[in-house]
Amino acid sequence: MKRIIYPGTFDPIHNGHINIAHRASHLFDELIFVVAVNNEKTTLFTAAERERLISESTGHLSNVRVKSFDGLVVNYAKESGAIGIIRGLRHVSDFEFEFQMAMMNYNLNPDITSMFMMPDEKYIHLNSTVVKDVARLGGDITDYVPDVVKQALLAKYKA
Ligand code: ADP
Repeated sequence: MKRIIYPGTFDPIHNGHINIAHRASHLFDELIFVVAVNNEKTTLFTAAERERLISESTGHLSNVRVKSFDGLVVNYAKESGAIGIIRGLRHVSDFEFEFQMAMMNYNLNPDITSMFMMPDEKYIHLNSTVVKDVARLGGDITDYVPDVVKQALLAKYKA
């Protein structure tokens, strides 16, 4: 069983994340989204909300699961029996941070392999912050997120 984890904040999940999960889920037997619970970022959605939005947005991918985790990603990878970590790479600007993190993860546990994948070109400029900003300012986010995420964002900003 080749299991891989896909860690991130996912605040909230968007179509770029789903594109990576879709691609990776065809290459591995199981993919687990790992929702970071307590990183230094302030999030709009709670971990439980982010987990639910990922589950509902990836229901069509039968070998995808979701877990929240508070701690080192390599530890979760080991605990869950995963062989590696998948991360999305959009721009050269992502590279430096991702490279540093991959090196650190390698030093923490050399058995866990970091892998990188590019999304379809149309998702290259997408990120959760931009999606939230557009939603907050009343713009149309239909093309960027699944409907369940769109509804959740509209509800947050209506309140
Ligand atoms: P983090 O807070 O760890 O950067 P995110 O939730 O923003 O996490 O992203 C999780 C993972 O998804 C990261 O590997 C990130 O590079 C990737 N990612 C984010 N947006 C996109 C996108 N538009 N296309 C492909 N991968 C993406």
